[in-house]
This record gives sequence, structure tokens and C-alpha cells, in this order.
Amino acid sequence: MRSPRFRLAAALTLIAVALLAGCQNPERIRIIEPLPPPIIHAPTPSPIPAPPPPPPIISQPQIRGAVIVIDPGHGGRDPGALPKYGGQMSEKTIVLDIGNRVARSLSERGARVVMTRSGDTYPELQDRADVAERHRADLFISIHANSAERRSASGTIVYIFDQATTQSLRAGMRMAAALTRAGIECQGVMRKNLHVLREHSRPAMLIECGFLTNPGDAQKLNSANYRASLAAAIADGAAGYFAP
Ligand code: ZN
Repeated sequence: MRSPRFRLAAALTLIAVALLAGCQNPERIRIIEPLPPPIIHAPTPSPIPAPPPPPPIISQPQIRGAVIVIDPGHGGRDPGALPKYGGQMSEKTIVLDIGNRVARSLSERGARVVMTRSGDTYPELQDRADVAERHRADLFISIHANSAERRSASGTIVYIFDQATTQSLRAGMRMAAALTRAGIECQGVMRKNLHVLREHSRPAMLIECGFLTNPGDAQKLNSANYRASLAAAIADGAAGYFAP
């Protein structure tokens, strides 16, 4: 029998041999797998820029170079509505002053302005309509001041012809909006069978600038400052018609 000490030595020898063999076994070498190549994210593609919008369809002429006819009502032997309250100016004088101011403002914006009268003269109604047709007006604006039996009637009114074209309607709507925006009382756009709106084919409106039979309106229309504000609003309204 071998002694236990011998058996322990033999066992240790066997373990040592086994360990040595293990170290030499290539299969025991831990193979470090190469790391997979890092995933490089492709740069986020920048969004495709939207194509430029198609050029707008211009259905309206631009104000620069547009022909605008300004028609101050009455004149000469025809005074129009007579002064009743708060001032000495009759309708023909008030509307000529407003018309001249509107014309100046529109000329400064590049429009070609034609006046049916620029002084105290009386062109016949048909002559005024003929000016619109002859100059192929892009817009015709007749300027008047109102009168009524009822003293309480007040404010501006924009008239278009009974069978107005869509251009005239659009022009009238833009005008009423501009007056309201300027803080001027406006009763809106109304249709009426008026000679200077009916007897030519061009876009047209007639503005009643207030009632000379209303004390408040009469007082305002006799103020140069008010006429200047009103004229500025009318020029804005006309320009609005030519805006896209
Ligand atoms: Zn009038």
C-alpha cells in the first residue's frame, strides 16, 4: 500500500500537469473578438428645401402706372348740396378740395391721375363718364357730399352701380374697409343707378363723404384737417384695390 502522503503528492503532480497542459491548449486562450466597427450614423439629411412658390397670378393692375380718374361732383353753376350747418362751403367746394388731395396722394404713389375737373367748372355727367372710358381708367372715383330730409342721417356711403362688375364691387368693399379703418363712419357699400357709374365700362364707385344736412358731418367737412384725413383714407382705399 502506498502511503497517503504519496497519494497526495501524486494528486498534486496530476493537477500541476493538467494546469500546464491547459495553459498550452490553444482552445483555452480566450479569443478577444475584435469589436464591430462603430456604427457611424450618416448625417441627418437636411430637408429638401421647398420649391419656390409659383409667381402669383396678377389679376389686378399695380397702382404704379394705374390710371385713376377722380371726379369731384358738381362745380361751376351747380353748387350741389348747400351749406346748412357749421360752415360756408357748399358741396362743390368741399368735394373739389377732397378730390385734389386724393389726386395728390395717388400721384405720389405712382398712379396716373386724371381729374374730370380741377377747378370750379361743370363737366356734364356724360363728359365725366367719357373721361373714364377714353383713358381706360383702372378705377373711377366720383366724390360727393350728401344731403337728406332727416337731419340725423350721417356718415359716408360707397355707391357702386346696380349691375356693378366684380371689380367695382371689390373696389367698393376695399374703400369701405379703408374708411372704417381710418375711424370714419361708413354705412358700407350700396348699389345705385347713377349716371357716372352706369355710362362707361370701367371699375367705378361714387363716395358720399358725409351729410351736409347733419350738423356733425357738416362741421367736420368744413375742417381742412378732416378733409385731409378723409382724402388720405380714400387714397388708401383706392390703393387697397390694387393690392394683391
Ligand atoms: Zn353731389
